[in-house]
Amino acid sequence: MTAQNQPRPSRESAIVIGGGIAGLLAARQLAQAGMKVTLVERRNHLGGAVGAHLVGKLVLDSGAESFATRTSAVSDLLTELGLGEKIVSPNPTGSWLYLPDGPHPAPKTGVLGIPGDLADPTVREILGRAGLRRAKFDKHLPASIGSSATTLGELVRVRMGQAALERLVTPVVLGVHATHPDTLELDSIAPGLREKMRETGSLATAAMMLRKASKAGSQVAGIAGGMNQLSEALVNDVIRLKVRILTGYDAIAIDRDPATGRWTLIQRQPEIGLKAAASSGKYIVLASDGPNCTRILGSHLPGAVVPQVGAGPEVALVTLVVDQPELDRFPRGTGLLVSEQVKSVRAKALTHATAKWEWIKDAAGPGRHVVRLSYGRASDDGPLQEVKLYDDQLIQLALHDAQKLLGVTLNRSHLIGADVVRWNGSLPTATPGHREKVNTFREALKDLPGVTAVGAWLAGNGLAAVTADTQRVIEEFIVTQRGEKTSASKDFTA
Ligand SMILES: Cc1cc2nc3c(=O)[nH]c(=O)nc-3n(C[C@H](O)[C@H](O)[C@H](O)COP(=O)(O)OP(=O)(O)OC[C@H]3O[C@@H](n4cnc5c(N)ncnc54)[C@H](O)[C@@H]3O)c2cc1C
Repeated sequence: MTAQNQPRPSRESAIVIGGGIAGLLAARQLAQAGMKVTLVERRNHLGGAVGAHLVGKLVLDSGAESFATRTSAVSDLLTELGLGEKIVSPNPTGSWLYLPDGPHPAPKTGVLGIPGDLADPTVREILGRAGLRRAKFDKHLPASIGSSATTLGELVRVRMGQAALERLVTPVVLGVHATHPDTLELDSIAPGLREKMRETGSLATAAMMLRKASKAGSQVAGIAGGMNQLSEALVNDVIRLKVRILTGYDAIAIDRDPATGRWTLIQRQPEIGLKAAASSGKYIVLASDGPNCTRILGSHLPGAVVPQVGAGPEVALVTLVVDQPELDRFPRGTGLLVSEQVKSVRAKALTHATAKWEWIKDAAGPGRHVVRLSYGRASDDGPLQEVKLYDDQLIQLALHDAQKLLGVTLNRSHLIGADVVRWNGSLPTATPGHREKVNTFREALKDLPGVTAVGAWLAGNGLAAVTADTQRVIEEFIVTQRGEKTSASKDFTA
């Protein structure tokens, strides 16, 4: 037999469940490693929480609009995808807090609302004399105080007091993560903060150090034209790598043939309810959300081992495009985070997108503005949940809230376009013990041949966390399955 006639070894095949950033990254990495990959997504479009929508003739981000710069994970990926030149920083003017006594510029020298500089006049204005005095205890308390805190809320309360927690940290954390700092695991929400506090003996100094560690002086960056280009570039890349894409299919179970060791994916077409075993492969990567992965793995792993990560609150984002030249002066900087104690406004945050991003300002043109309000907090259990309102009612509420928050008249006559995007299960909550459960779960998963799991429910929310975690887990998965050495261990033994 000539070499040409030799049967070619068949390519390993892999199925990736979930077409958000984690699933797209996983599919791309597996295909780059030479595998035949099928990507199954429940919705009719890929990208998950990173997507686009058209409002008032502007193409805007419908979900994530920036990424954290505390590591280079996302900017490295963007550079690899040819988007590096488009990375932009937000307007440094900063954001505001809306507290029961009105709007205040937010301190610029910390992280997650934790002030890095207690001498900053904005901190004094927000905390008042008594609150500031208590916050200053932080400098004098032994480093051991709070060093074993399990939640972010516990750490801030014990080091800086209730006023700092309620008036500085809670509005930021609720606005960005939709969950109260008292329920968020410290090491998941603020990696490195505890260690820096132990080292320096001060929470303020630790917050300042983390802030300074962010690249280019800003904690976040974006892409001119929108973060949705990240999804688009990843989709183009997986198409180029010949990944088979199935959208509109709900993955409901996986089954392993003990004779061949191959996995079969059972999927259901949501529209017609048809169940089918349409794909099979040697490997399965779960990249959907926590509840779905838990359900799929339920019969393969003892239930207790799979972390029960809450899907997070339902969130509704209302984007308004308005003609209102009074907003040209950016009255509240790049936007506001709203204290839950404010009853006259129901939004938890407002982003003044034309103030925050130069490219949106240029695209909108003079006098025209984009504001995005978000609704839905984990603590919302009262009879009125804004996210349950119809779109038109939510738009009316958003106009009312935007007027109050920005201090500028805004009503239907100013409206050029509006859109409501609802996110369900896209902001998973990492409660205390999460990291440990994730580690235990990933250890247990090693006993399930050919299966791994990625995504925000394991990595933590945010593109920086999801990108770095997915890349690391999939690299390790490929080398382990193939019995190779990781690049790190190769370097070590070379
Ligand atoms: C409104 C909003 C704003 C955000 N803003 C920012 C931001 O500015 N900066 C930032 O860094 N992060 C932000 N985030 C967080 C960040 O977008 C997410 O952490 C990240 O995109 C999660 O990626 P993922 O792939 O893990 O999950 P997802 O994006 O949720 O993707 C999971 C995918 O799995 C699919 N799926 C679920 N079940 C099934 C099933 N049974 N079968 C097949 N497919 C299934 C879903 O449809 C979805 O497409 C934001 C999130 C939201 C919701």
